[in-house]
Amino acid sequence: MAVMKFGGTSVGTARAMQQAISIVDRERVNAVPLVVLSACSGITNKLVRIADAAGRGAIDEAMDLAGDVRTFHFALLDELIKSDVLKKEVAVKIEELAGRLEMLIKGVDIVGELTERSRDMFCSFGELFSTTVFAAAMKDQGHNVEWIDVRTVMITDDNFGFARPVNDVCEENVHRIISPLLQQGTVVVTQGYIGATKTGKTTTLGRGGSDFSAALLGAWLNENAIQIWTDVDGVMTCDPRMVPEARSIRVMTFSEAAELAYLGAKVLHPDTIAPAVQKNIPVYVLNSVHPDAKGTIITNDPERLSGMSYDGLVKSIAIKKGQCIINVRSNRMFGRHGFMNELFDVFACYGVSVEMVATSEVSVSLTVDDKSVSDELIQKLQGLGDVDLEHHVATISVVGDNLRMSRGVAGRIFSSLKDVNLRMISQGASEINVGFVVEESEVITAVNNLHREFFSGLQNEGIFETPAGSLQGVTVVKEQ
Ligand code: ADP
Ligand code: ASP
Ligand code: MG
Repeated sequence: MAVMKFGGTSVGTARAMQQAISIVDRERVNAVPLVVLSACSGITNKLVRIADAAGRGAIDEAMDLAGDVRTFHFALLDELIKSDVLKKEVAVKIEELAGRLEMLIKGVDIVGELTERSRDMFCSFGELFSTTVFAAAMKDQGHNVEWIDVRTVMITDDNFGFARPVNDVCEENVHRIISPLLQQGTVVVTQGYIGATKTGKTTTLGRGGSDFSAALLGAWLNENAIQIWTDVDGVMTCDPRMVPEARSIRVMTFSEAAELAYLGAKVLHPDTIAPAVQKNIPVYVLNSVHPDAKGTIITNDPERLSGMSYDGLVKSIAIKKGQCIINVRSNRMFGRHGFMNELFDVFACYGVSVEMVATSEVSVSLTVDDKSVSDELIQKLQGLGDVDLEHHVATISVVGDNLRMSRGVAGRIFSSLKDVNLRMISQGASEINVGFVVEESEVITAVNNLHREFFSGLQNEGIFETPAGSLQGVTVVKEQ
């Protein structure tokens, strides 16, 4: 049995949805799948804009955008569903969702304030809409299918915007609500990304969180496989939007995939791997546009891995843009203990997550998400020393299990980057990544140089493959 998760682009148009339905249909021959969907591509971003507009009292703008969301899903419904009876039934559901979205806009406008809780409520509509249309389209085509509101299953804490599940409650819910349906042969379609608190308040797991939902549900169900269907041929040697020569990676270990995701490879939500590791379930990253392409298997199964042993050093390169370097200099650091404690306390106090760190005797350099830098944070840091900031930088990390014991990697990295202005360098404690920071304007040069250094000349057989329908030379613009 498998959990099949389809991302935004994989359900972003009627054609894409139809393709996803055929993929589910194909899997159905082996076992009855649980289907987890994202919102249609672009919709969550629109919902964020609606929330922001409502919060600042721009009600006309919010209503217009909500109208677009409604129209978009009606058009999908029209294209996908043939039966008039079903069409009417689903139209009522879409109208109801659109009505609730409008009510929420009015509510936030009246209160004059957008809380994190209402923001999650806004963001939840995308997945509710997409799954409603998808389940109906499957039903229209004669499938035995049931739509489940995942908020009855995915019970989370109340950390709105970054909620985490209450595991034992969820596991119990999965066995009570989802398992019996699958066992009786009914395909279950549900939402990724969203959940609810014990008291029924809608929450979200964070942007891109549908991968995480699928992994959690797969682990609770003890499935044989977690399939992440997306718009590229699996995890690749670099983001193909940055490096047109990027190759698909056939096999990765859990630690490589987790590291890569945490370091910025958007293809997987960073938390996806943990539930899979816990139950030792392989994660497949597959391309819904080319369902026959092999994609990537993420596993610790020695048999799978040994067939794909790889002498090279680097498996993949991850990029995180929109970062800021914060340099703190203080003579007080010299020979004194407790300084780092005080420094990190400041970041903890403002809930800012520190990504990369490099230290010398009298200075510390850190990277954080540019959006998390506030005047208050900087003022507090100035109490510890001189502070300067470098905005618009990106972290680049090379990742690979083989980095652990290899010599000469740093030399190769830095000679390939001799023309790039490196702002900071750091080696991860896991020893399977080496990271550095460059100005955003130099990212493309840096990653293409690195990619050439570590991957050029590799053949198409074995662990790397040229992706089917390769994006080479094509600039892809897409929205969540
Ligand atoms: P989905 O909507 O299916 O969840 P995402 O946009 O979240 O898809 O993730 C897929 C995208 O991740 C790809 O289109 C690609 O541009 C980007 N990406 C970044 N790094 C990598 C990588 N190493 N391998 C593959 N894709 C990557
Ligand atoms: N729809 C959500 C987002 O755009 C979740 C996801 O796509 O995984 O962030
Ligand atoms: Mg995603």
